[in-house]
Amino acid sequence: MTRVFIGIGSNVGDRQAYYEQAVRDLGMIHRTKLVRVSPVYETEPMGPVPQGKFLNAVAELTTELTAEQLLDKLELIQVSAGRPPQEQRVKWGPRTLDLDILLFGDQVICTDRLVVPHPMMHERWFVLKPLSDLDPNVVHPLL
Ligand code: ATP
Ligand code: CA
Ligand code: CA
Repeated sequence: MTRVFIGIGSNVGDRQAYYEQAVRDLGMIHRTKLVRVSPVYETEPMGPVPQGKFLNAVAELTTELTAEQLLDKLELIQVSAGRPPQEQRVKWGPRTLDLDILLFGDQVICTDRLVVPHPMMHERWFVLKPLSDLDPNVVHPLL
């Protein structure tokens, strides 16, 4: 069993509904248990693309899947929330639903598809605040 933290974000359409559906979907992933979710925060968008405010939260899971298998499930959940597939997306553009693997146990992964810990997590208030709400003692395996 691996303890995993997932970043959840939405800034298009009915953000609350996308968030709630994401939590339900995370709770239904095979060989995976949804442990709990943080409070939800409304945050300012970052980066070069003008866009609406986000709802952000972090979910804690335990899973028997590999990180790659879990990423496949997250991709399906994002597409079912109306997000275009990877090749059609605007970099850092608005999105109905974004699901990022922040931490996957203490694993350090760097492949074409997957970088874990998430490379920006330690610079983002909208990740660090809900993560520390869930567990203020969580340790980044590199920093
Ligand atoms: P950011 O990485 O700055 O949060 P983003 O979430 O907007 O950017 P996306 O367009 O959602 O980026 O994802 C681009 C690709 O990032 C995904 O298709 C996925 O293969 C890859 N990726 C790499 N590491 C991770 C990770 N830890 N969690 C989720 N996706 C990841
Ligand atoms: Ca992201
Ligand atoms: Ca993402």
